[in-house]
Amino acid sequence: MTRTLVFLAVVLAALTQAPTTSGVIALTGARIIDGTGRAPLQQGTIVVNKGFIEAVGEPTAVKIPPGATRVDLSGKTIIPGLINSHAHLNVQQGATLPVRDDLIRRLKTYAMYGVTSAVNLGSRTADELEGLKLRDEQTRVVLDRARIYTGGLNAVGKTPEEARKSVNRLADLKVDLIKYHINGNPNDMTPDTYGALVDEAQKKSLRTFVHIFYLEDAKAAVEKGSDVLAHSIRDQDVDLQFAAELKRRNIGYIPTLTRDLSVFVYETRPAFFDEPFFRRGIALYQEEVDHLSSPATQQQIRNDKQTQSIKPALEQAIRNLKILSDAGVQIAMGTDSGAEGNPGRWQGYFEHVEMEMMVKAGLTPMQVIVAATGGAARVTKVDSKIGTIQLGKWADLVVLNANPLDNIRNTRQIHSVWVGGNRIKN
Ligand SMILES: [Zn+2]
Repeated sequence: MTRTLVFLAVVLAALTQAPTTSGVIALTGARIIDGTGRAPLQQGTIVVNKGFIEAVGEPTAVKIPPGATRVDLSGKTIIPGLINSHAHLNVQQGATLPVRDDLIRRLKTYAMYGVTSAVNLGSRTADELEGLKLRDEQTRVVLDRARIYTGGLNAVGKTPEEARKSVNRLADLKVDLIKYHINGNPNDMTPDTYGALVDEAQKKSLRTFVHIFYLEDAKAAVEKGSDVLAHSIRDQDVDLQFAAELKRRNIGYIPTLTRDLSVFVYETRPAFFDEPFFRRGIALYQEEVDHLSSPATQQQIRNDKQTQSIKPALEQAIRNLKILSDAGVQIAMGTDSGAEGNPGRWQGYFEHVEMEMMVKAGLTPMQVIVAATGGAARVTKVDSKIGTIQLGKWADLVVLNANPLDNIRNTRQIHSVWVGGNRIKN
């Protein structure tokens, strides 16, 4: 009898101490920029249930369920979690951590910076399968890291048959997309070969992302049916006829301006090495910062002709971004951050620099936010799940202390980051 009473008392105590919430969260009072390009809601409510957005709108239009945990975000701005549509999730060569742990610390760094999804355009053999595993897990666990979507290894082939085989292997692994390269040099696949590659990808309902530099190669890749240009066209102005063609075919365009910046910016010590927002990621960045801070490395970068030729290429990229955006081409934010063997492409920090450079190229902050959220999701075909603050999407959110429409650098004023309704601990 006494035992039963004690048991009951324990149960009662547990019940009264248990959170009174239903697992439902209501974020109230914040300005909401939903990632579609629509004008922001000046004061809105978002209801999150089981990680998904269950309601969003004016406070008068959204009923907050009883028992919901209310989070007052008055004075803040909420944007969708940022999506890097050209990222790399590569394990560091010679790293002491197991591959999985190394990839997870990178995804955590992305998330800490508000980049809640990274689209991996190129694994290494050492990390291909772990990347896919992390992708498979992410709908089943409470996420404290960025989501990954991955193309696995780049598709390649010396013949059309080999290219098809390469795509088939990747399709069997259930990759999210196919990535291939046209570098503009004699080692490239022939148009017949990459034509077969794209054709095979289409048969498997996989989108193809192509690495290009030259306008001529971009045209050839589009002609073969490629879906996304994964870098800027950097040799000449894009003609308006081709721009119209990209829009007509609904081709995505990923500028990756910081990729080109990273080639030469370390010829001296960049000021951002001391920026507190950059220092947030220092646990991951330190080794590369040390390498890039050495006078010998800087001297080498200054003396390299190839390196110096990227400066005008970046100017060209900036001009073409404006031309293509004005022509209505779908732009997606991407950085090429994390590519192993290319130090100084900071996972997390560079996405914010990329957005600032896109504004400097002439896009409005709203256009850039769309390119980094809803637009990037459309280009990657994950827009049914993420990218906008709309009913039924994962609650991947970045809460900012200042309005990024006033100044795009306000994306660095991070209050909190939420992935699938889970607030990331910083
Ligand atoms: Zn890349």
